[in-house]
Amino acid sequence: MNDFSQRFLFDDTDVRGEMVALRESYAHVLAKHAYPQPVAQLLGELMAAAALLVGTLKFDGLLVLQARAEGPLSLLMVECSSARELRGIARYDAEQIGADADLQSLMPNGVLAITIDPTRGQRYQGIVDLDGVDLAACLTNYFASSEQLPTRFWLKADGQRARGLLLQQLPPHHQSEPQERAESWNHVLTLADTLTAEELLGLDNPTLLHRLYHQENVRLFDGQPLQFRCSCSRERSASALASLGQADAELLLAEQGGSVVIDCQFCNERYAFDAADIAQLFAGAGSEAPSQTRH
Ligand SMILES: [Zn+2]
Repeated sequence: MNDFSQRFLFDDTDVRGEMVALRESYAHVLAKHAYPQPVAQLLGELMAAAALLVGTLKFDGLLVLQARAEGPLSLLMVECSSARELRGIARYDAEQIGADADLQSLMPNGVLAITIDPTRGQRYQGIVDLDGVDLAACLTNYFASSEQLPTRFWLKADGQRARGLLLQQLPPHHQSEPQERAESWNHVLTLADTLTAEELLGLDNPTLLHRLYHQENVRLFDGQPLQFRCSCSRERSASALASLGQADAELLLAEQGGSVVIDCQFCNERYAFDAADIAQLFAGAGSEAPSQTRH
């Protein structure tokens, strides 16, 4: 398994963890565009973050991480479904991106929106400023500011591998004394902070856990696979076109020389609709645009 996440639990303290390793899905995302290295790294880190977050949430639907900023990297977006399928994209101005650009120089005054779009039930969105030193710090800030369980992130990517580690303090179970809980939590965090980028990127999960926590009782669970998959389809493109209404769709058809082409930005798939396709889209619908419904 090249792409998977794996949970672990400390037996004697109220802390859980999760690790993620992405290789093939990351390669799929990077293969669609010629991303400069600093952009490829941030995209990998955001993919790892999305996979970790999906592991902490119990829901059916889609998790979307969308970072927007005024700088050379204007958009960074990753989606991960509860079926553990990932896709991602970045928009940037290549000429303004230096070889060693970091998050702050690439995305000044940026914000990160975290959206949970469940198949059933209400959509939830949280927002945090991208003012940390890296994406891991920004996500850690988000959890600190949104009154969720104390959670810390470590994220690294190098254009080939994207790796992540998450630690989360659980409600009292093994330990009830607040001071004892705080000490245990700080202890596991302090050890995780000693991880170098090379270790996080290069070590397999059991080795990494042993390197950090060989003095603790830690249980590592089976890995759960993740994969690249784009959720675009001809049907979705058709429904986007239908939502324009017949008059505008026909105008677009005339403007584009007899065929409307919808490109998927995530996977470069192209969906073309000619006059007959468009006539069929609106057949029986009169001149009214069919309403778009989401379930
Ligand atoms: Zn696509």
